[in-house]
Amino acid sequence: MEAQTLSPGLLHGIEYSAPPLAERVWVGVKRHAISLMLDEREVYTFDPSGRLWMAFIDGVNYKRGLDGRMVCKWITPDGARRLRGLTTEEADIVLRWAHQMALQATGAYPDGADPICRQYLERACEWDVQAHHRDARRFLQIYKPVSILPPDQYLAVVLQVTEGCHWNRCTFCDFYRDRRFAIKTPDELREHIARVQDYFGDTLRLRNRIFLADANALVAPQRILVPLLQIVRDTFPIEPTDLTGEELNRWRERHPVRFQGMYSFIDAFTGYRKSVQELRELQQLGVRRVYIGVETGCEPLLRFLRKPQSNEEVLQLVDALKEAGISVGIIVLLGAGGDRYAEAHVRETVALLNRLPWSKGDILYFSELIEPYAGEYTQLAQEAGIRPLTPEQMGRQRQEMEGSLHLPPGVQRATYDIREFVY
Ligand code: SF4
Repeated sequence: MEAQTLSPGLLHGIEYSAPPLAERVWVGVKRHAISLMLDEREVYTFDPSGRLWMAFIDGVNYKRGLDGRMVCKWITPDGARRLRGLTTEEADIVLRWAHQMALQATGAYPDGADPICRQYLERACEWDVQAHHRDARRFLQIYKPVSILPPDQYLAVVLQVTEGCHWNRCTFCDFYRDRRFAIKTPDELREHIARVQDYFGDTLRLRNRIFLADANALVAPQRILVPLLQIVRDTFPIEPTDLTGEELNRWRERHPVRFQGMYSFIDAFTGYRKSVQELRELQQLGVRRVYIGVETGCEPLLRFLRKPQSNEEVLQLVDALKEAGISVGIIVLLGAGGDRYAEAHVRETVALLNRLPWSKGDILYFSELIEPYAGEYTQLAQEAGIRPLTPEQMGRQRQEMEGSLHLPPGVQRATYDIREFVY
């Protein structure tokens, strides 16, 4: 790995020799992170407070969440992509190693060299294994586990305006089975926000989006939701969409800490459906994009998945969102229904996706059904004699869908691998 690959957005950087730790040590400070690279074999990335965030050791990438969970991924010699979660003991080894490297790199830091790099490196030295554990416990006192986010929202500030999923019965999803659905009161939300602000401290300014969690925060009735979003908006300045040029520059100068908008999951089947006018009110409060788990356009498969939505409801919701000026992220579940539904899943999902009023700024996500994570689904599929698709078959399913889609320019297509998620 070349030092240059770490350099976009670099604010401060220094390279020095420090045998036996490494021939060359490179320290880089960016707005979002501090990187420490040892020769070309190891890279450690810490957040600006000094918490370990990512590491690259012996060809394996590690990523740590604020709740202490760590995932790693690597490429096998035959080119296959592998990924798994680490046990606490394994994660501790990575934390200990990263801390040791930070200590040694600081010990070898040249006298008189860039004090900013040194200062940031010293912050990483304050974070031993126990400090990381204490911090994870603190995080989990503020948040219910952040079960999942859309991949483009991994760096958002999560606010749990609601907890859990009001439906919580889709067979393939057990993200929120550990909690009851609840909507925070205004006072509870204010307290939650204060604790979130206290936890993130200065690093809050590095997160430029607000994600309204959990599974379907916008399901709350409008008369309850609007005051909650107003509290969010009063606390976190949201960049206005109706300013341009000098006016926008002046607004930005007045708001050095600002956010692009609010984002959230939404479902298409909720009993209380929002009108265009209500969605427009949410847009004016700062909601910029919502994510819809469409899963499939095959309605019998939806029933098998126990997801109570219809294609017409998806269409109506996306139409209304577009009219209100809100972008969408649409999630398709590759492999759903295994071999039994494979053909209908592709055909009817393509038909549905091609009817949606896509526009620039929308995202189409392809998410593979991960069987060990799939809750009741695996058992029900086995009982029904359904064979799961292999990763290769799911890859082909995606290719078939993509090959028949007619999406306008500016609509991104991306992979949504739930196993990669840590917050
Ligand atoms: S897929 Fe969405 S609606 Fe279904 S249980 Fe999971 S979070 Fe709830």
